[in-house]
Amino acid sequence: MAVTNGVSSGGLILSFGEMLIDFVPTVSGVSLAEAPGFLKAPGGAPANVAIAVARLGGKAAFSGKLGDDEFGLMLAGILKENGVNGDGITFDKGARTALAFVTLRADGEREFMFYRNPSADMLLTPGELNLDLIRSAKVFHYGSISLIVEPCRSAHLKAMEVAKEAGALLSYDPNLRLPLWPSADEARKQIKSIWNKAELIKVSDNELEFLTGSNKIDDESAMSLWHPGLKLLLVTLGEKGCKYYTKNFRGSVDAFHVKAVDTTGAGDSFIGALLCKIVDDRSVLEDEAKLREVLKFANACGAITTTKKGAIPALPTESEVLTFIKGQ
Ligand code: ADP
Repeated sequence: MAVTNGVSSGGLILSFGEMLIDFVPTVSGVSLAEAPGFLKAPGGAPANVAIAVARLGGKAAFSGKLGDDEFGLMLAGILKENGVNGDGITFDKGARTALAFVTLRADGEREFMFYRNPSADMLLTPGELNLDLIRSAKVFHYGSISLIVEPCRSAHLKAMEVAKEAGALLSYDPNLRLPLWPSADEARKQIKSIWNKAELIKVSDNELEFLTGSNKIDDESAMSLWHPGLKLLLVTLGEKGCKYYTKNFRGSVDAFHVKAVDTTGAGDSFIGALLCKIVDDRSVLEDEAKLREVLKFANACGAITTTKKGAIPALPTESEVLTFIKGQ
């Protein structure tokens, strides 16, 4: 990715979906009720991906809706400060920016409490999309939270269609958040309803199990998610690295050993890095040696992101990644 005078060149990577604030307890290992206080941690997987791309020197934009409130303005400001194009952001006058209170209790269980009744992101309409921005993207990246309710679902489907028509590569990271769906069956059905549109799909090991209904993380279960239009399927395995599947070859790339402090955002950092490397060189998808190099870079980005608290503060720059890889 070429960076000239701090301005990135190259194709635009547009991330579509939610941006919100996670409230995390000031102390670890407590339930939400026990937490003495909370810290704001900006997040939302598609927004994290946009910032991951920008921090690596790529050209990034975010499309989604925020509340016309202090938190919405704060989040839009964070995107701007990080060099993400915000021309696809709209603000809702009535609904608030989404909040999620999240904790990891002492017993290892994660507890979530969402403020989405409804939140602004859920109210994005097809008419509010910035179609010129979407048409200018070389990569269009999205998750599945924007599919849960209308009108955002229709906005998501339209944005995907417009991007595809304009020749963008569609990249899908379902990012399953089961508590947000009415039921597990509905989540599976809707996540799969747009499966065949994507040319690049990344799932985690847990998502693979959820989507296939198999408790095995093997090539057979991964390949059951294959579809004819797909160019690359990735399964991320946390500290075990990742597996890749294409029409002509498959394999795995080991993770880097780090002392993980907080794994939030590792997958977003991983996919952001991958998109940065393929946006201007799609041959990566057909050349195994090139792909393995890129996945090594993406694994490094994921690993680095786990070494600091929070997602956005932990996303690396390209030079940090190269120094990290050299030091291994
Ligand atoms: P997700 O956040 O989507 O669940 P993962 O946790 O699998 O995704 O992380 C994405 C990538 O980040 C992994 O493929 C791996 O390369 C890297 N990664 C994640 N956790 C660790 C870890 N504990 N140690 C080293 N690398 C990690």
